[in-house]
Amino acid sequence: MLSFNQYVRAQSLEEAYTLCQKKSNVVLGGMLWLKMQKKNAGTAIDLCDLGLDQIEESEEEYRIGAMVSLRTLENHAGLNALTQGAMAEAVKHIVGVQFRNLATAGGSIYGRFGFSDVMTLFMALDAKVELYHAGVMEIREFAGFSRTNRDILTYIIIPKTSRKTVYLSMRNTETDFPVLTCAVSVLDGRYSCVVGARPALAQVYEDEKNLLAHGDTAESAAAFAADIASRAEFAGNMRGSAAYRRKLCEVLVRRAVLALQEV
Ligand SMILES: Cc1cc2nc3c(=O)[nH]c(=O)nc-3n(C[C@H](O)[C@H](O)[C@H](O)COP(=O)(O)OP(=O)(O)OC[C@H]3O[C@@H](n4cnc5c(N)ncnc54)[C@H](O)[C@@H]3O)c2cc1C
Repeated sequence: MLSFNQYVRAQSLEEAYTLCQKKSNVVLGGMLWLKMQKKNAGTAIDLCDLGLDQIEESEEEYRIGAMVSLRTLENHAGLNALTQGAMAEAVKHIVGVQFRNLATAGGSIYGRFGFSDVMTLFMALDAKVELYHAGVMEIREFAGFSRTNRDILTYIIIPKTSRKTVYLSMRNTETDFPVLTCAVSVLDGRYSCVVGARPALAQVYEDEKNLLAHGDTAESAAAFAADIASRAEFAGNMRGSAAYRRKLCEVLVRRAVLALQEV
């Protein structure tokens, strides 16, 4: 069980940041991951009074507050229009509605979980994260950002572009962690693919050989999928072997490329 010595509802980001510099203190998101831990922490830092539970829209971008729930992302008309429904598809298999009402976007990204559907999609959307101290950085960079940098994630920023995206994942049973996650997108004719749950953290793969440069036919989709599957690194765990994941990757990427024609 997780227990705390003290609970603080931070009244400013500065207060939250200062408190989180102490190693034994913990920032709270929806607490769904945190509650699984067995530890006695110092101060629990609650961000719920800081107005981070809103999605702001401007002409250039969406700014998703760290405390926005996965369920809000799933049902957000603007985000689903921008992503051709990939936002809902990426989160709707995560456990259940009550869970997604609590799990936060900020906790999902800050956790940098290897199995993350959320990280896979946000990488594909070329999202940025805004950290109170470190400022704005590409989510791809944040994926490798040292965990010793204790910071507060305030917003996830999704640029409004003409990118088209298809998200697919494979689970052994509904509501389980994914065996593999995959998001293929195309922007200005350039395709890229993010593969996650390898079971390591999501990774971006570009169309380095320009296999889709002349369009996504059945043959070029198969060639691109085979190329990604050969370049991506996989490992085995209780949900599937590395070889199984490689095969799944080839199938999901090919299907995603072909599905892009329909969105
Ligand atoms: C049983 C189970 C099944 C799951 N299945 C899936 C799945 O299939 N696919 C998937 O993508 N995800 C899955 N998840 C992960 C889940 O969707 C959330 O990503 C996870 O629970 C973290 O979100 P949270 O809001 O609960 O964060 P918390 O558990 O509260 O926090 C997670 C971590 O992030 C830190 N943190 C939280 N918010 C901030 C912030 N704003 N700034 C700095 N640090 C912060 C916390 O200190 C903690 O270290 C699963 C989780 C569980 C427990």
